[in-house]
Amino acid sequence: QLFSTVDDKTEVREYFNNEGFNRWNKIYSESDEVNTVQLDIRNGHDQTIQKILNWVEADGDIKGKTVCDCGCGVGSLAIPLAQMDNKQTGAEISASDISDAMSTEAAARAKAMGIRNAKFYTSDLESVKGKYNTVTCVDVAIHYPTEKMAEMVGHLCSLADERVLISFAPKTWYYDLLKKFGELFPGPSKTTRAYLHKEEVVREALKKAGFEVSREEMTGTNFYFSRLLEAKRV
Ligand code: SAM
Repeated sequence: QLFSTVDDKTEVREYFNNEGFNRWNKIYSESDEVNTVQLDIRNGHDQTIQKILNWVEADGDIKGKTVCDCGCGVGSLAIPLAQMDNKQTGAEISASDISDAMSTEAAARAKAMGIRNAKFYTSDLESVKGKYNTVTCVDVAIHYPTEKMAEMVGHLCSLADERVLISFAPKTWYYDLLKKFGELFPGPSKTTRAYLHKEEVVREALKKAGFEVSREEMTGTNFYFSRLLEAKRV
């Protein structure tokens, strides 16, 4: 059990420091060196990010708040959140990723944009410490083995004073089938194992940690699907 987790994590770190970095850095950019599948994933992911930004903007109270973004990738959420500064004198962002290549790229992108209220560092999310108003974790759970999911959600909650925003690929019969179908035709590029998660497991873990789901969204394109939950401490 533990062994498979260690393996998963090492594999994920390796992947996102190497070919995974190249692949996802392109997807999470405006580069036109993407194929149609990657373009579809980019569009789906953009929608998830935009939904989160819309919620935060609608609340209009990000001013002076702290945000911890776990598994930040190239900063697709952390950077626009930090940029809300212009409109609302925004949040203080602390963003981390297990992949050094990812967090370094995120920091470089933020620096190039003159962002000062976001810091980026390399860390797996289990090792992230501290207390933040909001904790976000977008499209990271796909790398978490099923038996580790509840614990991971619990850890995110322990870092959050007020709110957790988490997205994951939902385990439904339809997506399960789609995933199995995809596995029959492995593409040329090496990838990592992908885990879908039962929504009840995530909801249970949030509840156990004293959180209540306050908003929800689902984003699905042809090759991207992501369930997004916002939960608040009760
Ligand atoms: N959250 C970002 C976004 O939405 O743009 C990136 C999503 S990307 C699909 C998944 C990211 O999770 C990768 O950058 C990967 O390195 C990171 N990751 C995977 N497992 C992690 C872990 N245990 N701790 C921290 N980051 C992790």
